Amino acid sequence: MKNCYLESILTNKPHMKFLTCHLISKATLFYTLFFCFVFTLNAQESKKRLPIIDVHVHAMGGNPNVPPLCPWFLKNMPGSGPDQEQPSFMNTNCISPLQPARSDAEMDAAILRANKELNITMVVSGDAKAIHRWHKAAPDRIIPSLGISNADEMTVEAFRDSLSTGFYKVMGEVAPQYQGMSPSDMSLDEYFGVAEELGIPVGIHMGTGGNGMANLSRPKYRASLGQPFLLEDMLARHPKLKIWVMHAGYPMVDQMIALMGANAYVYVDLAGFIWSYPLEEIHAYLKRLVQAGFSKRIMYGTDLMIWPGLLETSIEVIESANYLSEEQKRDIFFNNAVRFFNLDASKFE
Ligand SMILES: [Zn+2]
Repeated sequence: MKNCYLESILTNKPHMKFLTCHLISKATLFYTLFFCFVFTLNAQESKKRLPIIDVHVHAMGGNPNVPPLCPWFLKNMPGSGPDQEQPSFMNTNCISPLQPARSDAEMDAAILRANKELNITMVVSGDAKAIHRWHKAAPDRIIPSLGISNADEMTVEAFRDSLSTGFYKVMGEVAPQYQGMSPSDMSLDEYFGVAEELGIPVGIHMGTGGNGMANLSRPKYRASLGQPFLLEDMLARHPKLKIWVMHAGYPMVDQMIALMGANAYVYVDLAGFIWSYPLEEIHAYLKRLVQAGFSKRIMYGTDLMIWPGLLETSIEVIESANYLSEEQKRDIFFNNAVRFFNLDASKFE
C-alpha cells in the first residue's frame, strides 16, 4: 500500500519529500511521523533568521500610481540643462525593478512579513495611521518614532505630550535640511531639550537627498546644510542627548568621522544611500567608516518607502560586504541598535 496519508502531510514540506511513498506498517508509521515532526522542528529552528533592527523605516500606505524602482539608480547622474527636458529622478531600466505596494493592505502585509519571516524590528516614522496599524499587528517589532523638522508642525507642549504617552519611543526623522535650516537652528532647540530630558534618542537627516534636490524638487534644500559639523553646537547645548546621523552624512565622511570622534554618543545609519548610489561608492563609504574604527556606531537602516523589496536588497549589501567580519555584520544589523536604543536583546531570540 502506498503511504498517501504521509505524503499528503508532507506535500508542502519539500525538504521532507524523501520520506514519502514508502510502504510502512501502522507501527512504523507512528515512528516515521514522530521523526518527521522532530526533523521539521529542527529545520524550522535552523531556518530562523538572526534578528535585524532597521532603524529607518517610513510608514506609508500603498499606491497603484507609483512606478517601480531600480536600486542603485543614481549610478548614472543624468546630464541636462535648464532649457532641456527634466531628467527622471528614477529609472526602470534594470532586469527586475522593485514593485511598489499597490494598496494599504499590500504594504501592511509586506511589513508584517518582514517582522515575522525576516525577523526585522523597525523604527518607524511618518503616517500616524500606518504606524498604529503596523504597531497593532506586531507590537514587539514596531518602534514608533515621532518626526518634527520645523516648529510650525507642532508646539513644544504638544510634542512633549505626545512623547509622554509612551507610544513614541524615538524622535525622528528630523530633517531641517529640507527646510533650509541647520540642525543647530534655535527654533528646534527646545524640542531637542525635551528629547534629552525624557531620554528619547533622536534621528537627524544629514547628507544628500538625490539628484537635483535643490533646483528640481525642494527649493529650500541646501547641500551645505547636511554637513555633520552643523550638529556640533546643538550637541554642545544638549550633552546628554543621544543622536544618530541618518544616511551617515553621506558623502561627507571626513566630517562624520571627526564628529563621531568628538561626540561619543553619536551613531549613524546607512539608510537611503545603501540602495540609491552606486554600489562601489556605498561600499567605499561604509568601509571608510569601519576602517576609521566606528563599526560599533553604525546601525542598519533601509529608508524603506513604498517598495518592500528594498529591505532584502539593502540587507544583501551588508551580507555581501567581504571587508566586514561576521561580528561586524551582526553589530551593524543588531547589536549596535540594541545598545543605542537600550533594548533587551533576549526579547529578539
Ligand atoms: Zn532622510
